[in-house]
Amino acid sequence: MRLHHFWFFLLILSILGAKVICHDPEDLQHENHPPGPPHGHWSYTDITEWDKVYPACGGKEQSPIDLNTQETRFEPSLKPITVSGYDVSSEERLKLKNNGHTVVLQLPDSLQITGGLANTYRAAQLHFHWGSLSSPGSEHTVNGKKFPGEIHVVHYSSSYKSLDEAVTQPGGLAVLAAFIQEGPEENDSYRHLLSYLENVKEAGQSTDIPGFDIRGLLPRQLDRYYRYNGSLTTPPCFQTVNWTIFNQTVFLSEDQLSILEDTIHHDDDHILQMNFREPQSLNGRLVLSSFRAPVSGRKAPGGALAPSSSAPDSADGSSNHSEQEAPGAQTFGTGELLAIIFGVLFVVTALSFFIYVRQNRKRNHRSSDKKSNVIYKAATAEDNMA
Ligand SMILES: [Zn+2]
Repeated sequence: MRLHHFWFFLLILSILGAKVICHDPEDLQHENHPPGPPHGHWSYTDITEWDKVYPACGGKEQSPIDLNTQETRFEPSLKPITVSGYDVSSEERLKLKNNGHTVVLQLPDSLQITGGLANTYRAAQLHFHWGSLSSPGSEHTVNGKKFPGEIHVVHYSSSYKSLDEAVTQPGGLAVLAAFIQEGPEENDSYRHLLSYLENVKEAGQSTDIPGFDIRGLLPRQLDRYYRYNGSLTTPPCFQTVNWTIFNQTVFLSEDQLSILEDTIHHDDDHILQMNFREPQSLNGRLVLSSFRAPVSGRKAPGGALAPSSSAPDSADGSSNHSEQEAPGAQTFGTGELLAIIFGVLFVVTALSFFIYVRQNRKRNHRSSDKKSNVIYKAATAEDNMA
């Protein structure tokens, strides 16, 4: 009897475990935006109203967009993105601010994009978009898939004196974007930045933090990316952005991701979550890729942006490997791997349970046979006696 209980316990545990891990965060992605009054002039609770105050938000070249990997065009002239000055000395201080919509790190204009665009672009700031503990919150999507978060490093063209001057000019801005995903290991480059989020918990708060290697916040590979013309994803939505979205994703540990998702407030007692805009219509725009268009039907290695596809060139598999990525994450996500482990555990447990039950039944059967034999003999004896 006790063994029965043990097997049942294991069985239930396996089923529960598999259920928890197989849960698809996509199911929850359309949760409501955070409650509370709008912050400043606009908020994520009234996205549909943005164009009433900021007409550009209703334009035909808006961002973000869904990156449909079947419809992007390989453009061999797109050279690898190169940056300079990204390793900021710890002597320098960078301003980190909670502006009520996101957390922004101001960057000195000594950080530059020096390759991969027609012009040199100077950095202005970087910020993040995220969802919640249970729901992804990237702005761009890949074949409809949303990632847990997204980093935007905003630059302005060196043809202009300042960000303010460039922001209204076509091609005035260049944003480097990367998706943020959950990985098994802590990301060293993000540790520094995330450790200061507590200091800017409330909207309007800011703090000066020591410089660090900003390059580490981006994926290792900067040569494989998507490129299109779009807009700021927040009001005033100016359509002046040259977008670069890297194919390789950035990995944060579960704890690091939850710090990003669950620390910043947008007003008193309200955590700032789901600070993203949904993908906008392409309206005939072409999305270019710096690498060969993925072929459908095959699974891309982890960290690549083509969830159901893989680039045909042989370099793809190895070049997609990121230092933030665990070896297992190349072919399976952590969730998938755990689901398989629980699946196997379930089958083994179920089999053991049924074997046990069968053997027990046989034993009971044999012993009851003996008993019935005894009874039968006794009865016979009685009959005989009678
Ligand atoms: Zn952004």
